[in-house]
Amino acid sequence: MVMADKLLIKDCRLLGENGVCNPLRDIVVTNGAIATINDCGQAPPPGADILEGKGRLLLPGLINTHCHSPMILFRGLADDLPLMTWLNEYIFPAEARLVNAEMAYLCGRLAGVEMLLTGITTVADAYFHAEDAARGLIEAGMRVVSAQGIIDFPAPGVPDPDKNIAAAAEFLSAFKPSDLATPAIFCHSPYTCGPETLKKAKALARSSGCLFFIHLAETEAELTIIKKEHDSSPGRYLNDLRILDRDTVLVHCVHLDDEEIRIIAENGAAISICPRSNMKLASGIAPVDKFLDAGIRVGLGTDSAASNNALDILLEMDMAAKSMKTARDNAAILPARDAFAMATTGGADCLGLGEEIGRIEAGMRADMIIIDTDSPSLTPQYHGHSLLTYSACGRDVTDVIVNGRVVIKDRVPTLVNIDTVMAAVHKLSRTAFPYQPPGPRSRG
Ligand SMILES: [Zn+2]
Repeated sequence: MVMADKLLIKDCRLLGENGVCNPLRDIVVTNGAIATINDCGQAPPPGADILEGKGRLLLPGLINTHCHSPMILFRGLADDLPLMTWLNEYIFPAEARLVNAEMAYLCGRLAGVEMLLTGITTVADAYFHAEDAARGLIEAGMRVVSAQGIIDFPAPGVPDPDKNIAAAAEFLSAFKPSDLATPAIFCHSPYTCGPETLKKAKALARSSGCLFFIHLAETEAELTIIKKEHDSSPGRYLNDLRILDRDTVLVHCVHLDDEEIRIIAENGAAISICPRSNMKLASGIAPVDKFLDAGIRVGLGTDSAASNNALDILLEMDMAAKSMKTARDNAAILPARDAFAMATTGGADCLGLGEEIGRIEAGMRADMIIIDTDSPSLTPQYHGHSLLTYSACGRDVTDVIVNGRVVIKDRVPTLVNIDTVMAAVHKLSRTAFPYQPPGPRSRG
């Protein structure tokens, strides 16, 4: 990907650790990295592109630690259902019928545009045809950790489940890592992948030096299945299989007991929580306070647009904080500053990218977003973390820079035509569901 050699972001405010929006600064970016953070008014470096900050707030790009971007095709298709009904009666059949390489690419591209417009610059995306989804995400301008899905059922692109590990190995060997993309492995869950599949998939990830993602302890139904089939609980079961280590990212973790949290912390695995998806599917509220107290790396995920239904990490920050307060009956739990940290440094650490992204400092990759705070819903302004967590949403993002390149300017994607991107997915949806009127269905 071509990037601007030099970029000057003029007149922007940085958020201090104390939540104060600092005086105006100029940021110089060279070769995709933050070079210097200067007082305003200095001459731009020769040949630099200039992005006017207009006194707005410059933040690290937000990090989405869990998504299935092609599932954007199923947004709003089957809402208001419990997880197992939603999965077994709607999503799995729709996936079997509709997911292919072209669909993954077109939907990945739309998801990429949506995420960039809401300030997400990095996504850990997990699905089938992962390389095609990644192509769409990267074309839109995102940084991607792209994880190939593994499940012990016939799956899109992998009709024979006996070949699911071989297909994942092929994905890893064919993937061309770049500044913006790294490959990974994603086992769907401990109840849709048998123990041998889980062990082989983790061994493959270890031998390739890549991250291993898995949904874990999402619902109480999962606890019942793991108890019945393995006489265990999800966290203990994965520990017994030697799945847990610093390159494992556990997604959801709604239903873990204190000993499982201790085991996960001791093994150094990370957790991605998806509060809005968990709330929508009535799966429960992950005990994030305990994860953080145990020293576990925690990031925020949107999960898919089919179970959320928006790809907006600012909304996840809000929901993470408020749901935790409700769960603990304690308004002081998970303050705004912690929610912001999970969306930035926490997400970066969760993905093993903490030395590259998540902070605005010289030497870090230049992934940054600009928020227009000059709006009624963000007025007045006392505390930056509170403003972002409880008042802002993705529509407040005006400009987005990924790896030094401006990929959203004045709320418009610069690398793809937004009308073309949306039209392609509209066409897919009309072809796939010709009898479905657009918009939510009435349930009487
Ligand atoms: Zn998921």
